[in-house]
Amino acid sequence: MGAHIAATSTKERVQETVLTTGEIHECECRNCQEREEHPEQALHRHMNVFVSRLNEQQRRWYVALESHKVGHGGDQQLSLITGMNVETIRRGRRELEESLAERPTDRVRLPGGGRPSVKEKTPG
Ligand SMILES: [Zn+2]
Repeated sequence: MGAHIAATSTKERVQETVLTTGEIHECECRNCQEREEHPEQALHRHMNVFVSRLNEQQRRWYVALESHKVGHGGDQQLSLITGMNVETIRRGRRELEESLAERPTDRVRLPGGGRPSVKEKTPG
């Protein structure tokens, strides 16, 4: 009955998780740094509130979608707004382009092996 298991399980999470769920990122784009109110400030704040409630992959895809709408420079722009890594956004866009073909719809994590379950192997 040791509590030593917790130490190992934290390590694998470090890779992808940028923000803890529930934490709201403050936009760092130029408009939000201005003193005067800018219409985009509220929008960006709302985006970050929304993003904070999504899980990792939903977050990635939503931000990728927003980046796609911006077009050129979208990844950098969205990176400033959401604090998400540019590479992560790029990856999200690629995943959307591939129609999330390799992504299961019903679970957050990919199944371990990644191969389709053809038939259950009879235990030898
Ligand atoms: Zn902003």
